[in-house]
Amino acid sequence: MSLLESLVNKDVQNIQISGIRKISNMVAAMQDVVSLTIGQPDFPTPAHILEAGKKAIDANKTVYTVNPGLIELRRAAAAFVEGKYELSYDPDKEIIVTAGASQALDITLRTILEPGNEVIMPGPIYPGYEPLVRLSGGVPVLVDTKDTGFKLTAELLEKAITPRTRCIVMCYPSNPTGRVMDAAELEAVGKLLKDKSIFVISDEIYSELIYDGPHRSIASFQGMRDKTIVINGLSKSHSMTGWRIGFTFAPAYLTQHMVKVHQYNLTCASSISQYAALEALTGGVNDAEPMKEAYRERRDFVHRRLAEIGLVTERPEGAFYIFPSIAQFGLSSMDFTMKMLEQEKVAVVPGDAFSSYGEGFIRISYAYSMDSLKEALNRLERFVQSLK
Ligand code: PMP
Repeated sequence: MSLLESLVNKDVQNIQISGIRKISNMVAAMQDVVSLTIGQPDFPTPAHILEAGKKAIDANKTVYTVNPGLIELRRAAAAFVEGKYELSYDPDKEIIVTAGASQALDITLRTILEPGNEVIMPGPIYPGYEPLVRLSGGVPVLVDTKDTGFKLTAELLEKAITPRTRCIVMCYPSNPTGRVMDAAELEAVGKLLKDKSIFVISDEIYSELIYDGPHRSIASFQGMRDKTIVINGLSKSHSMTGWRIGFTFAPAYLTQHMVKVHQYNLTCASSISQYAALEALTGGVNDAEPMKEAYRERRDFVHRRLAEIGLVTERPEGAFYIFPSIAQFGLSSMDFTMKMLEQEKVAVVPGDAFSSYGEGFIRISYAYSMDSLKEALNRLERFVQSLK
């Protein structure tokens, strides 16, 4: 490393490339691989949303919007959340339109963290959080949720809280496990936190992809709205990953500070994407529903096939991931994944990409066509038989 390179911020130097990207880069360099690695909808963005984006371009709606985003879009986001999750947010003071849930997370963490603050997260966990916590000076504290069905329980949380705990990051429906915390489980966590000065960042990007029962947000439980930042977006629900539209919903006393970070970090989300997002939320078409039905069918299929293959796992209630244990084969999740890729040309993500608590598992994304899923599971079955 050159002297100049050694001067690069140490926290940035220490960030590792995500395990998911490592595998997908390898897959891109191989041929005939069936890949179940990417967490991205395989549906096109609905046509009426594309049209709204094109119209915005033709009408020259290509200049900055106000920093927190078009007020019409913030109103639509407020109505969406209110209608679905019984959560009421003031579009003027409590909502920011962001460049995806990713930037929403970043501005939230930058707003609330100070050096040395601990951030509790249930592991295995989406790999996007830990680097952002570190870049904000925070200290990630992972809690092992393997024995509680990958759910954060009040008991686990209580043990992890210290005087340095500033915030908890939750992600349900979960990437990578697909598990969802039910109302009683959320309520128990809410009860524990009600009187504590600890924030909760609730990443609800998969809230539209829940197969059994309605989505509940931790923010809707008693005493929680005031300390919770809800993050959502249109990437998954409306197949709009490349448009980069997300939202933060947070009490006014927090949003007024978050919007300053947002202003200097981004100015505003893409104006064109904001008009497309407005159509997504107000166009009168329920785009998420048919996609959800397709994912449900795939979930049922993948879960059943995994059971037949001998990879028994709880049926995930949401998102488009399933996270079976491969511990019985005595291989690390990386060795299992690499061997399967070499032998059968089927790619999954090793569980340790989602923190050390994901070791012994693999993540399968079922945001792929039924044909790909069928082929991939046949290959996986052959591979598993070869290990016995
Ligand atoms: N949170 C989770 C849990 C995710 O899985 C993803 C995308 N993979 C994101 C946030 C980022 O989403 P966005 O495209 O809205 O930035």
